[in-house]
Amino acid sequence: MNQYEHAINQLDKICAIIKKTESEDSEAELTYHEMEILKHPNRVTEVSLPVIMDDGHLKIFTGYRVQHSNIRGPYKGGIRFHPQVDLNEVKSLAFWMTIKCATVDIPYGGAKGGITLDPKQLSLGELERLTRSYTRAIANIIGPEVDIPAPDVYTTPQIMAWLMDEYSKIRGKNVPAVVTGKPVEIGGSLGRDTATAQGGFFVLEEVLKKISNLSSDQNKKDISIAVQGFGNAGYNFAKIAHDAGYRVVAVSDSKGGIYNEEGLDIEKVVEHKNSSGSVINFPNAKNISNEELLVLPVKILVPAAFENVISLEMVNDIKASIILELANGPVKIDASEALAEKDVLIIPDVLANAGGVTVSYFEWVQNTRQYYWELEKVRARLKEKMAQATNLIWETKERYKVDMRTAAYIVAVERLRKAIKVRGI
Ligand code: GLU
Repeated sequence: MNQYEHAINQLDKICAIIKKTESEDSEAELTYHEMEILKHPNRVTEVSLPVIMDDGHLKIFTGYRVQHSNIRGPYKGGIRFHPQVDLNEVKSLAFWMTIKCATVDIPYGGAKGGITLDPKQLSLGELERLTRSYTRAIANIIGPEVDIPAPDVYTTPQIMAWLMDEYSKIRGKNVPAVVTGKPVEIGGSLGRDTATAQGGFFVLEEVLKKISNLSSDQNKKDISIAVQGFGNAGYNFAKIAHDAGYRVVAVSDSKGGIYNEEGLDIEKVVEHKNSSGSVINFPNAKNISNEELLVLPVKILVPAAFENVISLEMVNDIKASIILELANGPVKIDASEALAEKDVLIIPDVLANAGGVTVSYFEWVQNTRQYYWELEKVRARLKEKMAQATNLIWETKERYKVDMRTAAYIVAVERLRKAIKVRGI
């Protein structure tokens, strides 16, 4: 079974749980045949992207845009630049965006894009020409009311700015709402850069309130956290958690990780990474591998890099009691089920990292209204949204006696199902 088939298989499992629990209550015969729609992406686009490289030769890249569902609103989801991008991965990520937007109840469907390349091998000029080439190739299927791209792994606000500029030139007018995660100078939202991490942190604190007594800063110091990945999500999360008084004991990037049981000063780690190119070899910390980081004796593990980093074989070595999925799909489905049986609390990606797309939604609202919010307002609304979603998922978890991922999917599937029903097929 490939990654996409694994992902959509979840739908049958969720429908069976809802049917069983609901019919025990009401004896109603529930059918879920309309959910078949969600097993197939609405549209899959593959494009060839010609780019003149700096040395004058022509190179053709392959790009994708998968528009999974627009049942609840325009397609929404990031664009990934990575050597491992393939159609199967983009389809899974697009499906997860549909579930994510429904989980936190923002009025979007789900989509994802990607280009197969190693962005570290391209100059800035080559990256710009590639982004403009991709924008021209998908211009007819995106737009503020149709499909709104955003950043994802290895794509930046600068890349979103080029996309917005190219699209605006094609349309002959400024169209800031075609993409989110833009620089603030051209209509980006304050707080979008830290939103994924900030949202994950709000969710984590809401969960901790339910399971532990966090009344003093000393209690926070006792909570150790390991963060895998030092990109936008991982770095900002480590910083926010450290600044709030938690003990961040380990972080890592693509070259490896560092560990100090007493805690790391994240600002100093950033300075070190900026001057040396990596977090490794940080003074007073032990170098560890990315795999070692995942099995450290910590209270909270935060995978914030790629999908499928925690597999079934690793389950018995994992010592954390909470896993906050800041990356998309970092825990394989079978590992997730085995960890739930071991009473490891997994806060699922579709909730834990939904702060990013939530502030993307705020950015799009600000663009369409042309009225911009203060940072405090963005933060307060993000906190409210994350707390509401966490509480509803927690109640659903208790009611159906399931893990948090299953509860999040139940919430999402019910919202999607109602939308399909009222719209008709
Ligand atoms: N790429 C991010 C995600 O996976 C953000 C998507 C968006 O803002 O549209 O949720």
